Amino acid sequence: MKLQVAGFLDNSLVNGKGFRSVIFVSGCNHNCPGCQNKCMQDFSYGSEVQIEEILDRIKNNKPIIKGVTFSGGEPFENAEGLLELAKDIKKMDLNLWCYTGFTYEEILKSKDEYKIELLKNMDVLVDGKFKEELKENAKKYTGSRNQRVIDVKESLKKNMVVTLD
Ligand code: SF4
Repeated sequence: MKLQVAGFLDNSLVNGKGFRSVIFVSGCNHNCPGCQNKCMQDFSYGSEVQIEEILDRIKNNKPIIKGVTFSGGEPFENAEGLLELAKDIKKMDLNLWCYTGFTYEEILKSKDEYKIELLKNMDVLVDGKFKEELKENAKKYTGSRNQRVIDVKESLKKNMVVTLD
């Protein structure tokens, strides 16, 4: 399977805890005013990359990185391909963070099984649209104060949103 990839960082310290590889997928319909990745809203931006190729690159970074972050664009608009990638990354014993413009609750209510399964494979979800008017004093790893850094496993277990604070 292929993914439409807008960008890839081998090791970043600002897209989640610890050194992480970051994959930016193309395509997003949220259209947040002030979006920092406007070019990545286009579903055809970037290039098509085989999932195996992305995995090889992550494997090469494995001695350094603690995990992988999915960003974009909107990862949950690319749920089928990212789910396949997520399952292989988990086998490498790496943790997974994902940035999304959807809320945790919206994803859980989705009728799209790929979206729900993708959520279940995440360790941390940074959720909600970017709101320019709320960007001052945003928490670490978020862009605006409405966004939450959610511990997905604990939230699913307790059936309520549990944040990492
Ligand atoms: S969700 Fe992210 S990529 Fe999509 S429009 Fe909003 S800020 Fe931009």
